[in-house]
Amino acid sequence: MINTQPATDTITFLGTAGARFMVSRQLAASGGIWLNLNGTQILLDPGPGSIVQSTKRKLSAEKLNAIILSHRHLDHSADVNVMVEAMTNGGFNRHGWLYAPADALDNEPVIYTYLKKFIEGVIILEEGKSYTLDNITFSTPVRHVHPVETYGILFRSQGHCFSYITDTRYFAGLNKSYADSELLIINTVFTEPRPPVEHLAIPDAARIIAEIKPKVAILSHFGLHVWQAKPWKIAEELSRQTGVKVIAARDGMKFDLSQLEEE
Ligand SMILES: [Zn+2]
Repeated sequence: MINTQPATDTITFLGTAGARFMVSRQLAASGGIWLNLNGTQILLDPGPGSIVQSTKRKLSAEKLNAIILSHRHLDHSADVNVMVEAMTNGGFNRHGWLYAPADALDNEPVIYTYLKKFIEGVIILEEGKSYTLDNITFSTPVRHVHPVETYGILFRSQGHCFSYITDTRYFAGLNKSYADSELLIINTVFTEPRPPVEHLAIPDAARIIAEIKPKVAILSHFGLHVWQAKPWKIAEELSRQTGVKVIAARDGMKFDLSQLEEE
């Protein structure tokens, strides 16, 4: 039978909470981001509740091809073990890959040793490297400035290019590293920069969007003050400031990459 289904690329937000208070109080969910790129399914940063949010959204972990951790912090990795167990049907269907920076796996691995045997392998993320998974490629162009080893990810699938700018302090290299992106997902934790805490704030997001000029930018991973300031209002204001369509992610929001063609 010929598959007449058009290939789709979708991004589902299993949570929008960033940093400790939003996550520990579950003011918003914190399950990470689920990608379905032409049938290749990837879970990014399974924070606390990823298993709850993914099953609630009828996303089947058994269909995952890979789990990617941008870094080892709890709000990005807490559910990695349960998601590996779910991906492999309790180890009875050995498959899938885990991608993570070396420091998530070295001294105090975020994944249990016995679960590592359930997957095809663990691949170490390194600065400036590219990776191929089925029909998609992704790269980790630059190491972020964050207390633990951290990489954002630039994905290429079916002619689309989009980036996940995970936790980091703002630095000039961000703009060059993610310059090709038609879509940016930006972890926007603070309303204003709070040095020495290494997270992006709204003015940083504005600067990145203004310089890269993607077709669309999606803000997520909100800290408490961003949440209280209403992320959708911030997104409206950034749209006005930058001339780029800026969206505030919501728990469960699904973005189809074909929407980029309309922009
Ligand atoms: Zn972090």
